[in-house]
Amino acid sequence: MLTTLAISDTTQYFINLESNHGAHNYHPLPVVLKKGSGVFVWDVDDKRYFDFLSGYSAVNQGHCHPKIIKALVEQAEQLTLTSRAFHSNLLGEYEAFITQFFGYDKVLPMNTGVEAVETALKLARHWGYRVKGIATNAAKIIVCADNFHGRTTGVISFSTDPTATKDFGPFNLGYEIIPFNDLTALSIALNDPSVCGFLFEPIQGEAGVVVPDEGYYLGVRALCDQYNVLMMADEIQTGLARTGKMLACDHENVRPDILILGKALSGGTLPVSAVLADNPVMMTIQPGEHGSTYGGNPLAAAVAIASLNVLKEENLSAHAAAMGQLLRDELELLQSPFISIVRGKGLLNAIVIQHPNPDAAWELCLYLKELGLLAKPTHGDKIRLAPPLVITKEQILESVEIISKGLKKLAV
Ligand code: PLP
Repeated sequence: MLTTLAISDTTQYFINLESNHGAHNYHPLPVVLKKGSGVFVWDVDDKRYFDFLSGYSAVNQGHCHPKIIKALVEQAEQLTLTSRAFHSNLLGEYEAFITQFFGYDKVLPMNTGVEAVETALKLARHWGYRVKGIATNAAKIIVCADNFHGRTTGVISFSTDPTATKDFGPFNLGYEIIPFNDLTALSIALNDPSVCGFLFEPIQGEAGVVVPDEGYYLGVRALCDQYNVLMMADEIQTGLARTGKMLACDHENVRPDILILGKALSGGTLPVSAVLADNPVMMTIQPGEHGSTYGGNPLAAAVAIASLNVLKEENLSAHAAAMGQLLRDELELLQSPFISIVRGKGLLNAIVIQHPNPDAAWELCLYLKELGLLAKPTHGDKIRLAPPLVITKEQILESVEIISKGLKKLAV
């Protein structure tokens, strides 16, 4: 078994440059990319790969989608940033568009995913104090174990991953952690008048694509209604057609009170995130209480409208559902002794690797890279398989062939 595979001098040059001058806060595969189109990316040696990570689901519409790039370039030539000190001719248009698209009264635009999560937490607390009547500084938000909602000190305050928290304390108060996919634990936690919100990922992405039992979203909705608590869905990774519906909560026709979006809202072009809610929640925010210099900038607004339009025009939800089913079926058919579990919804999938070598998932990803497919392990033994949603049936079959070849190499 090989631990490192040959890499070119050009690739090594760029890797060294990053290693020497950048912080070592990531552990990337040894591949240096320079171009992308649709489901493919190319490295600096012009080798082509299937992208099975899609920028952690930011590139749902495919790399450099022509309609999104057109919107980006055209708007970049007009006006890119006003700050919220002034109005722009695009912000209102975008706000009307996205609120109608998802069926909420209002949107609060931000940039990165974690900023949108922070925004949702602040909104829930405001609502808790100003509408529900929770005593000052007593508000509690319930979250799930093994969550991933981003990397700010606020958000890691309720992470259960020691890598995310070790030596970063002290942490914020006001969170209670319960197991994911456990309605009994939720019902006990919500039975407390100081709880204002329940924040969860409909499918836990970073934890290894953990899909809850059927009925979980309906159960969460019912309990949040029963205890007058805001249901806060972080659909940053699961939303925007990734799981085979526009939102993962749509699988059970459930509407969260606070919807958090990011990633594919810009089709992978620039950081664009958003929080959607109805007036009783959103109108608790007054001027000066929250914001961001770049949030809702005209460039982001133009790109987000184009990105959402592409998802609808190309019917990417239904396509992701069909291609995801095909991918899982074909992976099951491989009957590899090294795959213990194939799981996922739509095109958000993972395989769990079982192998005597604890680094087998990483090794497999290196083999897949050699064979022309990029994927990355998460939490040691899980490999996420989440290609851009524009992938075709033939491309799925070709990718599974590559994965099959990679798995055979693990046996050597
Ligand atoms: N929430 C979820 C569910 C995510 O998957 C991520 C990123 O992977 C985030 C929040 C954070 O988004 P960002 O990295 O854009 O801050």
